[in-house]
Amino acid sequence: MPIYEYACKECGHEFEELIFSQKDEVVCPRCGSGNTEKLMSACAAKVDSPGPDFNALKNTGGGCGGGGG
Ligand SMILES: [Zn+2]
Repeated sequence: MPIYEYACKECGHEFEELIFSQKDEVVCPRCGSGNTEKLMSACAAKVDSPGPDFNALKNTGGGCGGGGG
């Protein structure tokens, strides 16, 4: 399903929204404002074929999956 990440410009709340139609306005679930902005998914990229540098990539810890809540 098409899930996009949005950020509210009013209160700064970030949330994920299921988008069935791009015509629909995305409303902030916290403050109810329609002044929201779609964010680019930073976790979309995946390592398809790990090469000799794969271990080096693992050592960096990655940027996804931490924090939040
Ligand atoms: Zn808001």
